Amino acid sequence: MSIVVQGVTKLYGEQKALNNISFEVKTGEIVGFIGPNGAGKSTMMKIITGFIPASSGQILVNDREVGTDNLEVRKEIGYLPENNPLYPEMYVREYLGFVASIYNTGVSKKKLIDNIIELTGLIPEQKKKIGSLSKGYRQRVGLAQALIHNPGVLILDEATTGLDPNQIVEIRNLIKEAGKEKTVMLSTHIMQEVEAICDRVIIIDKGIIVANEEKSKIYSVIKRPKQVIHVEFENDIKEALLLEIANVNTVRQIKKNTWLIEAEGDEDIRPLIFNFAVKNNLTVLSLQKQESNLEEVFRHLTKE
Ligand code: ADP
Ligand code: MG
Repeated sequence: MSIVVQGVTKLYGEQKALNNISFEVKTGEIVGFIGPNGAGKSTMMKIITGFIPASSGQILVNDREVGTDNLEVRKEIGYLPENNPLYPEMYVREYLGFVASIYNTGVSKKKLIDNIIELTGLIPEQKKKIGSLSKGYRQRVGLAQALIHNPGVLILDEATTGLDPNQIVEIRNLIKEAGKEKTVMLSTHIMQEVEAICDRVIIIDKGIIVANEEKSKIYSVIKRPKQVIHVEFENDIKEALLLEIANVNTVRQIKKNTWLIEAEGDEDIRPLIFNFAVKNNLTVLSLQKQESNLEEVFRHLTKE
C-alpha cells in the first residue's frame, strides 16, 4: 500500500497551489506533511483521495491511478478531511451505518460498526447524536468513518487541530495504533505531532516541497552545525575564560553560574568543557546539549 505522487501541479485560476510536486509514501510508513497555512496540504490530500483533480501530474495509490480508477482507489483509502465534516443531526451508529453501506466489504454492516466503535473508543457515545458530542469524540467519529472499511492507506488532514491537550494525546494514540498496519499520511502544523508519531517528514511551503527526510535526519537540513550547550558550574566564572575553550564562539550567562555556550563544528564540545573545568578546578553540576528542534527546522525552511 503505497502512494506515489509524480509532478503534480494544481492551479486555482491563476494561482499555483501546488507546483510540480513529487514524493512517495512507502508501505507501512507514517509520514507527516507539514507546512504553514495556505501551503497546499489540504489541496494535495484532496487530490490524492480523488476529491478534486490535479491540473497535471500523476498519482498512484497502491499502483492504481487516481482519476481513472477512483472507485477502486476510494476503497483503499480512509480519509479524514480538514474540519471533519459530519452530520450533527445523525446518531453515531446511524452515521457509521450510512458510511459502511457505501463500501461493499463483504463483512456484515453490524459487525463493521461494532468493530469500529470499539476500536475508536466510541462505545459510551454510540447512541448519541453527533451534534451533542465533545470535539474529541466527534474526531473519533471522523476517524471511525475513515477506518470502517479497513483501508490500507489513511489520509488525515489536521486530525488534532482544535482539540484540548488530553484529546490530542488520545487521538494521537488512536492514529498510532490504527496506523500500525497502514500507510499513513497526516498533515499538521504542530511540530510535536510529527515528533510523536511520524517516521518521515515532508515540509511544504507555497506549493513546493522544501524538505523530505526521515525524522531522525531532518535536522541536518539546517546547514549550520552549531551546538548549544547548557552548563551549570558550582563556582563563579569569568566569561573570558569560557571563551578560551576550543571552537566556542559565544557564551551567555543565563543565571548565576549557568551558561549557554555556543560552538561551531561537528565535534561534541562537552568533553572539552569538562576538561576545561577540571583544569580550572571548577565543579560541573550539569552539562547538556540542547537538541535542534523541528520547530527550528520548520521556521528555517519556511520563513519569508
Ligand atoms: P493548507 O491546507 O496547507 O493550509 P490549502 O491546500 O488549503 O493549504 O490551500 C493552498 C492555497 O490554495 C491557498 O492559497 C488557498 O487559498 C488556495 N485555495 C485552496 N482551495 C481553493 C479553492 N477552492 N479555490 C481557490 N483557491 C483555493
Ligand atoms: Mg489545510
